[in-house]
Amino acid sequence: MIEVRQLTKRYGDKVAVDGLDFTVKPGTVTGFLGPNGAGKSTTMRMIVGLDAPTSGSVTVNGKAYSAHSAPLHEIGALLEAKAIHPGRSARNHLRVLACTHGIPPRRVDEVLELVGLQSVAGKRAGAFSLGMGQRLGIAAALLGNPEVVMLDEPVNGLDPEGVLWVRNLLTGLAAEGRTVLVSSHLMSEMALTAQNLVIVGRGRLLADTTVEAFIRDADGSGVKVVTDEPSRLRDLLAGPGVEITGEVGSEELRVSGTDARRIGRTAAEHGLTLFELTPLAVSLEQAFMELTRDEAEYTTHALQPAGRAA
Ligand code: ADP
Repeated sequence: MIEVRQLTKRYGDKVAVDGLDFTVKPGTVTGFLGPNGAGKSTTMRMIVGLDAPTSGSVTVNGKAYSAHSAPLHEIGALLEAKAIHPGRSARNHLRVLACTHGIPPRRVDEVLELVGLQSVAGKRAGAFSLGMGQRLGIAAALLGNPEVVMLDEPVNGLDPEGVLWVRNLLTGLAAEGRTVLVSSHLMSEMALTAQNLVIVGRGRLLADTTVEAFIRDADGSGVKVVTDEPSRLRDLLAGPGVEITGEVGSEELRVSGTDARRIGRTAAEHGLTLFELTPLAVSLEQAFMELTRDEAEYTTHALQPAGRAA
């Protein structure tokens, strides 16, 4: 479990992390999302004690990272794929880490096999591709068989087979009851891997929710219903939390706050004919863009055609 409480980090005038409060729970994969510059990496660095909070606190399994006597058994982290000595072999890189915790060499070979690097274990890690570096970083994170695993952009540089492998690895770790926190800018991948989401923008918490609820509650989701008795259907569906929109005189309604089954059943019970009943899904990417539109540190703007005044 990772518990972040009122966590704040300032660099001079710049507030990189601004009063963040969230808990990453065991047994699920939590996606850590936000536009560039939102404060994700700074937060992750503070979780493993590489940066000190200006105020607030963060604990891993109930204690600050630095208070654990054998932290690699508590949390395994991949923050920077190429944070390795380039002249060392993959196996030696892991052996050095293992020595700090009395982890036996056989565990080094186990994790090398797990990440698919056994055939290049004796090669200089400096010559590794980004994808191989990611795999080595994941091997290092898993070395101490930790309860908490935290990976910053682990699928960067991986081919489709590698991306699928990371997805299965993370869901497998969560299924074993571990706490998994993972950041990625690939929303389609996050939608497939994570159950929970922590979304930040300009250092602040924007959402702490599940992927399912986040997508369900996003603008543009709901159910499209077409009927020749729209006002009667409106009256029948009206209730707490249900929102119904539609133009006057149109047979088409857009309903949110309930689901297609319930709408279909209500219509059938009252003898209403439906000509269309379509759940409208927004993607995680659309929902994320909607939430963070004003939060990005660097955004692109549409170019004005030449000759036109801005
Ligand atoms: P993210 O990982 O979400 O892209 P970061 O945590 O890297 O965001 O950065 C958050 C903000 O803090 C950015 O504006 C970044 O420029 C700034 N920042 C990060 N690290 C430092 C540092 N060591 N010194 C000064 N500013 C920093």
